Amino acid sequence: MYIVMAASECAPVAKVGGLGDVVFGLARELEIRGNSVEIILPKYDCMRYDHIWGLQVTWEGLMVPWCDGHVPCTVWFGFVHGSKCFFIEPHSADRFFERGTYYGFPDEHVRFAFFSKAAMEFLLVSGKRPDVLHTHDWQTALMPVLLCEIYAHQGMANVRAMHTIHNFKHQGTAGADLLWSVGLNRPEYYCQPDRLQDDHNPTAINLMKGAITYANYTNTVSPRHAWEARYTDQGCGLGHTLYRFADKFGGILNGLDYEMWNPELDPYIAAHYTAATFARKADNRTALRRRLLVAESAKPLVAYVGRLDTQKGLHLIRHALHWSLENGAQFVLLGASPELGINDEFWHLKHHLNDLPDCHLEIGYDEELAHLIYAGADLMVVPSLYEPCGLTQMIALRYGTVPVVRAVGGLADTVFDWDHSDRPVAERNGFVFDHADFAGLESALRRAIGLWNDAPALFRQLARQGMACDYSWNRPGADYVGVYEWIRHK
Ligand code: ADP
Repeated sequence: MYIVMAASECAPVAKVGGLGDVVFGLARELEIRGNSVEIILPKYDCMRYDHIWGLQVTWEGLMVPWCDGHVPCTVWFGFVHGSKCFFIEPHSADRFFERGTYYGFPDEHVRFAFFSKAAMEFLLVSGKRPDVLHTHDWQTALMPVLLCEIYAHQGMANVRAMHTIHNFKHQGTAGADLLWSVGLNRPEYYCQPDRLQDDHNPTAINLMKGAITYANYTNTVSPRHAWEARYTDQGCGLGHTLYRFADKFGGILNGLDYEMWNPELDPYIAAHYTAATFARKADNRTALRRRLLVAESAKPLVAYVGRLDTQKGLHLIRHALHWSLENGAQFVLLGASPELGINDEFWHLKHHLNDLPDCHLEIGYDEELAHLIYAGADLMVVPSLYEPCGLTQMIALRYGTVPVVRAVGGLADTVFDWDHSDRPVAERNGFVFDHADFAGLESALRRAIGLWNDAPALFRQLARQGMACDYSWNRPGADYVGVYEWIRHK
């Protein structure tokens, strides 16, 4: 099969969170399975250009219809660790992708509507006719709509559209005039309840709703979250639309790129190890403590790595930090938020705790440091309020770092409690709590730190059981290919 992915992120060149990991990892898995895969991304000025090989112009003068004129674009091509990527660079006064960061601008929906239109136009004029066009999240949600309403009538009728939702919270709601910008010229037709009209604001369009309506199949990134999105408020208002299209909606668990995340080969960690040489993991703990100036001690090291977003349970992260320090553990945090208020709050906390030898807060984005934390920590807390899939707990498992998670979304699908799971003991791999409150978090952390202190051999067994879990792309890869085949032939 020939598959084109279009997305706003792809690790490691343009990564903010799990979306980037998934686009890269899924593309690679599909290639391994014998498919031909190409990825289309915006050409951000802030990308990690050191991860692109052979970057060169492949299409000059792509004239993208936009509002009542055209925007000229240059399309670049390069290999990102072996994956074929096209980068679209618009030349306009808006400087859509030359702003120093990936997200966080008031004209966000305009930037990505333009990217969606430009990517479709590039496929059209370059003669690319993929079997499947796979889009991701609200940023590229307009593409299935454009495909059905415009490009299918211009020779792309055989292209099928698959859309993956990584986060229901951000749906891309905008004024209906955005449709006119991309050539969907009948707002009265599109701004209808059974098409793109937002269910809560009749004057607005909802791009994610458009993708669910128009794509041949939509999925979210774990079976549990697919259920939550349909039957609880975690669908963030899209529950009715998901109900309408239940026959083309499902959940496929994300995989983890086992080449990128591999403690046996990882270039960013101090000592390589496997489940069989687990004792060497301790050298990473030492290296991590030295790097972050945390005291050498006989205490367990608890960590948090992730975006500092309310979704992640910020009050619980803060509580985990304080509670761990008060209960004989150390704590390190690596995280950042585009919201200044949240960042400031954690900077304040960092200054407040600066002199304590048992903790370190690193506010910012640091891919290399993240690897060392996964390898060096004993426990990883993921107390999310909602979590479509979550990669942090899967990476932690791969590195023998025991996850302490809330039973929600993909966390519930991947972590099984050491004491209370209904799974056989040999399949248990972490600690789980139900309610997003201090009592729930404390009970799980108490059990985790207790096992580390009182039964180190059992704790090591639990960590090694985590390393034995297979959360690679192997199974999800097969699931995605299955859906592609289904939409091609139905
Ligand atoms: P989300 O997609 O909601 O951000 P996931 O758990 O699915 O959460 O994926 C998060 C990914 O981003 C992981 O690979 C994690 O290591 C990485 N990550 C998040 N924040 C940071 C950071 N500040 N520095 C380095 N890596 C980070």
